[in-house]
Amino acid sequence: MNITERLHRILATLPEGVHLVAVSKFHPAERIVEAYNAGQRIFGESRPQEMAAKAKVLPKDIEWHMIGHLQTNKVKMIAPFVSMIASADSDRLIAEIEKQAAKCERKIDILLEVHVAEEETKSGWDIEELRAYIASGAFENMSHVRVRGVMTIATNTDDEEIIRRDFERIRSIFNEFKPLFGEKFDTLSIGMSDDYPIALEYGSTMVRIGTAIFGAREY
Ligand SMILES: *Cc1c(COP(=O)(O)O)cnc(C)c1O
Repeated sequence: MNITERLHRILATLPEGVHLVAVSKFHPAERIVEAYNAGQRIFGESRPQEMAAKAKVLPKDIEWHMIGHLQTNKVKMIAPFVSMIASADSDRLIAEIEKQAAKCERKIDILLEVHVAEEETKSGWDIEELRAYIASGAFENMSHVRVRGVMTIATNTDDEEIIRRDFERIRSIFNEFKPLFGEKFDTLSIGMSDDYPIALEYGSTMVRIGTAIFGAREY
């Protein structure tokens, strides 16, 4: 199967209203063009330099989503064009996104990445710290950051019960925060190549799929 066929096969399994982020990290621009020509417009990258280089040469109507851990000093590299930063995982990073978006006179959508997985190494907010940060009113003076929802990466395991527990947790966090942010808070970003069918059961509105579209990545 080629990229177009895989893309269409996946799209056919997504319920109405679920957005597909085609995760193109480590794949060359030509492969992105193939997906673009098949109609895909949202692409996810994990490294700001790579994203900026691709954005420069690829069509301007692509929506670029930053899905990997983002260092504060790299925000300015993508602020002029990025659509969504799905890995907003610290107060310092969010403050920097607000600052750089203001400089570009833009609004940047963000997702609060929450740590729910078992691994210590997984990035994302500790839920208690995030609750305290939101309660402190941090977002009240930010007019260039739009909080659209939450994101998580489930535990990397074959044990489906653990994956389900992770998704259940993030769904309940999404429901807890929704009343605090209102209408625009509409995105529950869960599900990757291996676990997206399960994520859909937990109300995913945005899946991030790489390998199942582009094949294995070369590192
Ligand atoms: C790489 C990556 C994905 C895509 O993973 P696949 O298993 O290739 O679908 C999704 N989300 C994040 C945050 C990633 O870093």
